[in-house]
Amino acid sequence: MFDGRNEAAPQDSRTYPALSVENLTVEFPSRRGVLTAIDDVSMEIHRGEILGVVGESGAGKSITGLAVLGLLEAPGRVAGGSITVGGRRVDGLTEAELTKVRGREMGAIFQDPLTALNPLFTVGAQLVETIRLHTDLDKAQAREKALDLLREVGIPAPEDRLKQYPHQFSGGMRQRVVIALALAADPQLIIADEPTTALDVSIQAQIIALLRRLCEDYGTGIMLVTHDMGVIAETADRVAVMYSGKVIESGPVEDVIHKPHHPYTQGLMNAIPSLHERVEELEQIDGSMPRLAARPGGCSFHPRCPHAGPRCRKQMPPLVPVDNAMAACWLQQGGTEL
Ligand code: SF4
Repeated sequence: MFDGRNEAAPQDSRTYPALSVENLTVEFPSRRGVLTAIDDVSMEIHRGEILGVVGESGAGKSITGLAVLGLLEAPGRVAGGSITVGGRRVDGLTEAELTKVRGREMGAIFQDPLTALNPLFTVGAQLVETIRLHTDLDKAQAREKALDLLREVGIPAPEDRLKQYPHQFSGGMRQRVVIALALAADPQLIIADEPTTALDVSIQAQIIALLRRLCEDYGTGIMLVTHDMGVIAETADRVAVMYSGKVIESGPVEDVIHKPHHPYTQGLMNAIPSLHERVEELEQIDGSMPRLAARPGGCSFHPRCPHAGPRCRKQMPPLVPVDNAMAACWLQQGGTEL
């Protein structure tokens, strides 16, 4: 169970991983009992690294990101494990402490940039306020920093843009503003949840390239949450594939993409369009992600898996090293027969 320790940030937090999640469990108490949304999930993100967290809707990837940010909606709660950002435990902080850590140590980018922007204030006012909240800069210095950030994220004529309101920006430009806001305090970690899903395809590629460059230039660790294995292939250094609240495969992107071990990862790979295939030839994974209250026993992928055997229906395979990656499937652990 969570032990409530709120350790102070270490002296040089930049020598620690940007994020370390260990054995995280997230529960949602309900009338039908306690539902476990995230079950014993561990992951680490180093500075300057993008970890792609991928899976279909309901896999638990967004809840993992929200738990890290301390933004789980009640009655959701961290019921076990730990979340450490730059060497500092952040699970169990008070709301006031979390508000300080969020923004200063962690930035967030969500699918809809309008949720992060206040329509009543200019982009400049919002950037300056955020910078001043999390740094010691005075108003003039914060304005200079806001201009630098807008330039950094590729917004032309930043002097003029500072005076404009969010509705005067296109979707792609708004998402660039949100990225600038997320970077305002030079955080160690950015959680980017489906940051390109609402954008046109051509803009998606630009935003992905921007995130990649900022991660390298600023040394920020990024958790890129997406349902799209294609985005992961283009952007991430490492990937954690989630299914039904668990990480079922993880490893360097190159390894996981070229040789996925878990049948679910193989299914996600087959659903990526390539330049040489007609879209209607793409394979989809049969069936759908089980609901939280109706997860099957054993390997929770077994009702959809073409290789399922008797063992799969009874026992959940552990996540173990396979080649350069980790996978949770009986096919690599002695077979699917009992
Ligand atoms: Fe399929 Fe069995 Fe592997 Fe689960 S453990 S993915 S059901 S083969």
